[in-house]
Amino acid sequence: MRVYFDNASTTPIYPEVAQHMVEILTENYGNPSSIHGHGRKARSIIEAARKIIAKAINASVGEVFFTSSATEATNTILHRAVVDLGITRIISSPTEHHCVLHTLDRLESEFNIEVIYLTTDDQGQIDLDQLEEICSSSNQKSLVSLMYGNNEIGTITDIARVNAIAEKYNVLFHCDAVQALGKTSIDVQKTKMNFLTGSGHKFHGPKGIGFFYMANNSIIKPFILGGAQERNMRAGTENVAGIAGMAHALQISLDKMENTVEHLLQLRNHFESRLKEEIADIKVNGENALYRLPNVSSISFPPSSTAEMMIFNLDLAGVSASSGSACSSGIEQDSHVLVAIKHPSDRKSIRFSFSVFNTLEEVDYVVEKLKQIVPVHTIDHA
Ligand code: PLP
Repeated sequence: MRVYFDNASTTPIYPEVAQHMVEILTENYGNPSSIHGHGRKARSIIEAARKIIAKAINASVGEVFFTSSATEATNTILHRAVVDLGITRIISSPTEHHCVLHTLDRLESEFNIEVIYLTTDDQGQIDLDQLEEICSSSNQKSLVSLMYGNNEIGTITDIARVNAIAEKYNVLFHCDAVQALGKTSIDVQKTKMNFLTGSGHKFHGPKGIGFFYMANNSIIKPFILGGAQERNMRAGTENVAGIAGMAHALQISLDKMENTVEHLLQLRNHFESRLKEEIADIKVNGENALYRLPNVSSISFPPSSTAEMMIFNLDLAGVSASSGSACSSGIEQDSHVLVAIKHPSDRKSIRFSFSVFNTLEEVDYVVEKLKQIVPVHTIDHA
């Protein structure tokens, strides 16, 4: 058996999305900037996709822009908010994705902006009282960049409260919604934000395609320069099949969302309770957070000699999961998210993340394999 439990990293594409893309790649190969029939057909595919994405988050079509990834979308927004909108202070958290954190490092060193990281508790919950305090402390032109759901431990941020604070103090808000899109309903009219970023491959769409939402009241200039694509907002010939595939995948995900979330919760809850029954001293990172993504289970295993090799041994057993560590000069260290939640460094954390394609049988299989991998901690039921 080969089990794929690394869906927070990327998801398998829906077969109907792949089929849709093949048709576009082979039949609708025109350049959307060309004015002839082939070009116009490709253009109409892009605009249909834009409509789907806009509707999915309750934006207007003019507020959605396609990019090569959520990483590019985030780089675009953060850089251009500083240059075009006069942002001199960015408030974020230490548990953001590297596409935010590394961009903030760059902005701090090159543009001399102030970057403030909010405190995070041991469940990965961001201190929003502190956000309010900071926002109220000065009227410096500020932007808050916080993710909707954490990709490593699954903790969800109270986005409605961030919106309320940002509005109250006239602070711009960028939300990295990569892990939440397709698993929760997002309405940018209800929960207002100036910018939102998303990525096709996290909801069973293709890789190498992303988008951003930019509210009509906070217009930035392009980050990538060249042709006039994306209404002059992002140069480069559009990835027509990728754009269409992403929109199709988001539509399918939202249509099936209720059932999917129920299925994911069933898998996750079964996995966590079975592990606790079978292995001593199991901890679930972020388990006590007020809200969690339904598909992420970040498991902290007690120290043992075999725990260190866990990802390797899981892979040998046919299980793909993700290590919660970063490799720095050959030495394994906890990832920045685990460090932020003060995960004890002698324990070993592994992220298991599920999708609609996973089954309870796979969960049971993985629990059995884990018992064999950390035998010293296996609970004897005899
Ligand atoms: N933000 C989060 C929370 C993510 O999990 C990821 C992907 O791992 C990204 C941003 C980057 O997305 P992309 O792969 O489209 O660059």
